[in-house]
Formats: sequence, structure tokens, C-alpha cells
Amino acid sequence: MPDSLPPRHAAQPDVVIAGAGFAGMYLLHRLRALGLRVRVFEAGHDVGGTWYWNRYPGARCDVESMQYSFSFDPELQQSWNWSERYAAQPEILTYAQHIAERLDLRRDITFNTRVTALHFDDAAQVWHVTTDTGEALAARFCVMSTGCLSTTKLPEIPGIQDFAGATYHTGQWPHEGVDFTGQRVGVIGTGSSAIQAIPVIAQQAAHLTVFQRTPNFSVPAHNWPMRPEYEGAWKAEYPERRARAKQVRNGILMSINPESAVAVDEAARQKVYEERWQMGGTQFMGAFGDLILNRESNETAAEFVRGKIRSIVKDKALAELLCPQGYPIGTKRICVDTGYYETYNRGNVSLVDLRAAPIEAITPQGVRTTAAEYAFDSLVFATGFDAMTGTILAVDIQGRGGQTLRAAWAEGPRTYLGLMVAGFPNLFTITGPGSPSVLTNMLVSIEQHVDWITTCLATLQDRGAASIEATQAAQDDWAGQVAAAGNRTLYPNTASWYAGANVPGKPRVFMPYIGGVPAYHRICAEVAAEGYRGFAIRAMAEAG
Ligand code: NAP
Repeated sequence: MPDSLPPRHAAQPDVVIAGAGFAGMYLLHRLRALGLRVRVFEAGHDVGGTWYWNRYPGARCDVESMQYSFSFDPELQQSWNWSERYAAQPEILTYAQHIAERLDLRRDITFNTRVTALHFDDAAQVWHVTTDTGEALAARFCVMSTGCLSTTKLPEIPGIQDFAGATYHTGQWPHEGVDFTGQRVGVIGTGSSAIQAIPVIAQQAAHLTVFQRTPNFSVPAHNWPMRPEYEGAWKAEYPERRARAKQVRNGILMSINPESAVAVDEAARQKVYEERWQMGGTQFMGAFGDLILNRESNETAAEFVRGKIRSIVKDKALAELLCPQGYPIGTKRICVDTGYYETYNRGNVSLVDLRAAPIEAITPQGVRTTAAEYAFDSLVFATGFDAMTGTILAVDIQGRGGQTLRAAWAEGPRTYLGLMVAGFPNLFTITGPGSPSVLTNMLVSIEQHVDWITTCLATLQDRGAASIEATQAAQDDWAGQVAAAGNRTLYPNTASWYAGANVPGKPRVFMPYIGGVPAYHRICAEVAAEGYRGFAIRAMAEAG
């Protein structure tokens, strides 16, 4: 890894950042400009976060490249050329590496190192930081930029350690890649990762068996090699388009038809859905303005997608098994695929319906369901993540008075604005629970959080303040707003990772703030403009 300058690790940095994905990288850049001494710890051996770990075949972003990119550096956004409408993982990782070089970030990042503990020292008003390599240091501020989907989740299946063949998790894919040629491969899971990986693995494997518990709704990406006129139009209007994207609820510039799906007749509705299907990507959910609000409207979109599945998959019984039922489309993250349903027309692909016959055990040979046994050379777990809170809670975080974050979040995460937690001064989370994060273009949300935190720290510097902390009252109020926003939609009742449903024992709380990017950005800006309303700021003299 090229380092232009030797590391200049401060013994006592001002800020410790956990994670060198896009959030940690941009934050490091901004805080350096404030003159702060920053140490970043990163578990991987290079930058890139999600795009460093998720190297499974077919991994690709489902936000268009022209938008899934940083806006803070006008020269970068003009000079960087994306090769496809939706970039694949290697290209996004190369982009992250390019930024690390361009901004000379790596000299302040300690790789192959996890932060394991953060303990707040009330008297000294500093965080004591411990890493898994045995480093111990103290810093006034800490920032968890550890990503929302970082802690991989294996299924609770008896015998999982007994399988004699090779096992892989999509979120921890081997860097050297995997060649499945000639193999019998089993994939467990049918979420976004599986839906991208399955068509690619099917082209290699001798036979691919997909174990499906819950079918997902997937729409085609209709990816294409970057068109010069498309790229040119974006680059000519980047500032305006980026600003307009922030006026859309998910931070992605797309048209959202404000009409209700049930306010138009069947022919008009089908025409709109067909147009959206042909456009490709998540803008399908913008076909009508009330798809996530009104169950009847939602069902029209769900049934349209089921019709597509039935028209693509030739085996009628198989098509029915692939049709999602019983939950509203979009309330589990909608998937974007390239040839997913078509893959089931191949002779070397079969689907096992776990609703009819659940998995009993993983055996040395393969997988045993209540109905049959399947032998494999390789097993792929596409079983997701302990989302949003898993990685934060994996760190032993103790705030004021020694209270643990785990205890504070025992009934689900509670934050103020998804940025801070009462009782944990000077500890920030980027795209944390209680912020729009995973419901948005992550790059838009990351930039806004980093900018907000940077301004906050600059303000504290100017005031000579020692600490900032969310007040309990502001946090309680925000938790109410997050829940109320969720309850206005169809999301909370679906068993999704948004609500912690995929992890046994995890509190069932709808974690992201669904009030939309425009409202959220406005609230954060107002809070700062009103002298950090809802935060207690303590002066140096008050410390201890
Ligand atoms: P996921 O959406 O949580 O899907 C996990 C899958 O594993 C589900 O189908 C789940 O079934 C299944 N599963 C879990 N435990 C199981 C068990 N014991 N037995 C059988 N099946 C089991 O995880 P993911 O696909 O990795 O995606 C997570 C998120 O990452 C996405 O929602 C998206 O936000 C992001 N992502 C984005 C992209 C992109 O940008 N294109 C790509 C990949 C991922 P149940 O539904 O029945 O629990």
C-alpha cells in the first residue's frame, strides 16, 4: 500500500475514528483541515469499508454511479470516470483507493486493527481507546464510522461447523475470488447479496441449489456501459443535480410520481409500472407517491412484479415459489438484479422452499431439510448482517459513570438525530440508527453527517468547549419522532433487518429515520443554528 509520508501517529490524538470506509475517509479529510490530530483504525488492510469486504460475484451498487460518489471535491467528480451505469464492487473499491491516495489519507490510518473498547473518563473528559492489537490511547472525541452492514450474520443452523467443503459469507468474500467451476454449490438466503451472486455463480457451478426462506421482490437493473452523453450531462450540472437529489426523500435524484396508485385506472397504472420496470433500478418504487404508505396501492406494485416473475420463470410452480407474498413490496429492501429470475430457467439451478421443508442441519456433506438431503462442494451464506447496531455494540463502549451502550440500547437503539447518545459525550455515530442512512443514498447521508460533525467540532474549538452530549429529553423526543415517522409507513410491521428481525433476541425497533433526507437535513441544520439545541455543551473549566 503506497504511503507518501511516514505515519505521524499522535500519542494522544484529538479524535479517534473507527472505520475507514467512505465515512471515515471523508471525516479524516475534513478534521485534518481543522488542524485536529486524528487517528483512524480500520479492521481491513485497506480502505473501502463495505466495498472492501463485499467481494462476492456480482456485487454491484444499486445506486447509479453518477450519484453514488462524493460531491465534496468538484475536481474529483469531474475527473473520475465511471465505466457503467451501476458500478461493480472492484470499481467502487478502486474509487475509494484513489481518494485515499488523492487526499493522502493512509498515513493517519492504522489498518488490520479494530477498536475493541471505548471507556469515557469523566474526570479527564477523554475516551480511553483500546484496540485488538493492544494499543491503548486517549482521545477527546471518538467517531464510529463503522458502517450499517458490517457485522456478518451466520444462520443459527445446527451443525454449521461440520460441513466438510468450503464455506463463504458474501460479506467476507476471499480476496483472491472463488472459482466454482464444476462444483455443486448451495446458497442459503435470497436477499440483495444472494440475488446478485446467484446469476453469476450459476454460470460457473455444475449445479446450484438456492435455499429460500422468504422470496424477495427484485427489479432489473438494466445496467449499461457508461454513455458519454449521460456522463456529460451529469458533469455539466453536477452542483445543481446534487442539490436537487437532497430534495428527494431518499437522496437520489429520480422522479417520484406524486399520484396515488389507486387514483388511476388499471391501464394507466400498468403503463406506469411497465415504464418504471424498463427504466430499471429502485426508481420502480417511485412509480406512485403512496406505495410505502398505502397497503392497497402497494399491492398493485407487488402484483405487477409477481406478474413479471410469472412471465420470466418458465416453470409455473417454481415461479409461484419465487413470488413474494405476505409483506408489502419495498418494506424489505427492494433488490436490484441482473438476470436473477431468468437464472431459474437454467437446467443447473434448483430452488428449495424452506417454508415447506425447513433446514434441520448442516452435515459434513451438505444440507439436510425436513424433506431431503443435498450434497455440496461449497456452501455460500448470503444471510446478511447484524445491521446498524451490531458493529457498534461489538465494541465495549462505556460512557459517563461507566454505563454501557449495550445496556442503554437494551430495548433498541436510542439516539439524538442518529448522531449522539445521551450519557456518551463526545462520541458520534455516522449514519447511525435514528438517521435516514440505509433508506438513502449512503454517500449523501455520509457527507451530511461528516459535514455536521466537522462544523460541530469547529464550533467547540472556537468556544474552547470540552464536551458535547445529547440531552436525555432531546433523545427521547427524537426517538418518538423516529417511531412516529416509521409508523406512518408500511415498514415497521415487516420482519426485516431494518427492524432487527433477522437477529434472534434483537429488540424489534424500526431503526432508521424515515422522515426523508430533506426534512432530516433541515432539522440537523436548525439544531446547529440554534446553538446545538438538545445538546449540552460543557466548557473546559467544567470538565471533571
Ligand atoms: P439480507 O437482506 O438480510 O438477506 C439475508 C437472506 O438470508 C434472507 O433471504 C434471509 O431469509 C436468509 N436467511 C437468513 N438466515 C437464514 C436461515 N437460518 N435459513 C435460511 N435463510 C436464512 O442480507 P443481504 O442480502 O446481504 O443484504 C443486506 C443489505 O445489504 C441489503 O438489504 C442492502 O441494503 C445491502 N446490499 C446492497 C446491495 C446493493 O447495493 N446492490 C447488494 C447487497 C446488499 P429471511 O428473509 O427469511 O430472513
